[in-house]
Amino acid sequence: MLYRGTFVHAPSLGVVQILEDHLIGTLFISQVNEEGNITYIGSAQIQQSIDLLAKRASENISPIEIPKGSFLLPAFCDLHLHAPQFLYQGTGLDLPLMKWLDTYALKAEARMDAGPELARRVYTRLAQRLKENGTGTTLLFGTIKEETNLILAECMQTAGCRAFVGKLSMDIDITPPESTTTTYVEPSAEASLDAAKSFIHRCHGLVSHLPPSARLVEPVLTPRFVPTCTNELLDGLGKLLQTDNVKLQSHLAEAKDQVEWVRAERGMEDIDVFDKNGLLTSKTIQAHCTFLTMPDLDRISAKGTAIAHCPLSNAYFSAKPFPLREALDSNVKVGLGTDVAGGYSLDIMNAMRQAVAVSRMREGDRLMQGRDHQNLSIDWKESLYLATRGGALALGLQGMFCVGAPFDAQEIRIYDAQSWQGVGTLDYFDLDADGSLKNLTPEMIEKWWCIGDHRNRMRVWIQGKDVWSA
Ligand SMILES: [Zn+2]
Repeated sequence: MLYRGTFVHAPSLGVVQILEDHLIGTLFISQVNEEGNITYIGSAQIQQSIDLLAKRASENISPIEIPKGSFLLPAFCDLHLHAPQFLYQGTGLDLPLMKWLDTYALKAEARMDAGPELARRVYTRLAQRLKENGTGTTLLFGTIKEETNLILAECMQTAGCRAFVGKLSMDIDITPPESTTTTYVEPSAEASLDAAKSFIHRCHGLVSHLPPSARLVEPVLTPRFVPTCTNELLDGLGKLLQTDNVKLQSHLAEAKDQVEWVRAERGMEDIDVFDKNGLLTSKTIQAHCTFLTMPDLDRISAKGTAIAHCPLSNAYFSAKPFPLREALDSNVKVGLGTDVAGGYSLDIMNAMRQAVAVSRMREGDRLMQGRDHQNLSIDWKESLYLATRGGALALGLQGMFCVGAPFDAQEIRIYDAQSWQGVGTLDYFDLDADGSLKNLTPEMIEKWWCIGDHRNRMRVWIQGKDVWSA
């Protein structure tokens, strides 16, 4: 395929590039495992592009024109989402974390494990919703049962969604004695480790018949969090992480009650428990991290561990905001997570806006207290980086338009080139000021970033395949 039009991406923190009248090609496949990867990018005006267009014309093939008023943006990356909790998304956000888990989360997860038909229904819908929201890649927490996670992987693969699927590892029961929740736990560390290994094998097996580029799902080691995992289990997962070509995700230093729980039960901090078991690595993605100190962030950075920043669920459960600016200054890899269903919105657009809003509150607080530090706020351009390239880098992907990257993209239409009217909520009053349509400006994109919605999303591609259209 060859696409011609305007492409927008955030190749580095704070930088948004607008590539007017460019060509992006996913052609000239020399090897089958490159299918759907970008093989060409360049301005339509350079000789190589002119030759390419001429060659295509001689073959009677025209490029796919992205209309004026639209631009292609890398598909979003959601670095933290609990797939089974999609079941009750948007409800039950009235309790502190540990009580919330017992009252809502574990029940939902147990229900999914008990009902494969329900799991298939929920996960099929989840994949559809992710595409609708422009999310191309998702790092997922699943449930305990292997089969349910295989259903999740299968639903994502079938829908054409790129997904890292985490079978939960947990061998400590955190349901309190007075709880009405059925026990939700694996029988032992050994059984949990065997199940984790088996899931990796079976999840790979699900897609092993496909060429490498078509394998969209991948297993991830997923110790739920320190309170649910014995040292024996964490140690075993640490060894597995060293020997197997997998990533690992968990929750780190998320909430006041959770951090206090770990101190009381383990006599140390979350981060020390993970570290001593070999679980802070460059293949690790940790959600939240709101309670980390500056030295902790330096340690995370030195280990190459990434953080999934979930501003909405942090507001509900963490008691304090994540030190995002400090983490970025410490060169920590950071992406955004929706944390459904601790966060009620599946839309990364909301996560971007919340990340900016929270950072501005932090900056206001700094000013009020007269603390001596640089500005703690981030801007929309930085949030766009986190939502695309930041999250992608945490998972070993690119999240931008460059040769070799998978073509994971979304078409955003901000105005209609026939009527010169803004699309959806957007109004632009200077489009025809001199009788001609204007090139895209950062301000026009900023307006979309602030008040745009699903009406602006026209199409989504994942690994070069057109997987969703409005
Ligand atoms: Zn979570």
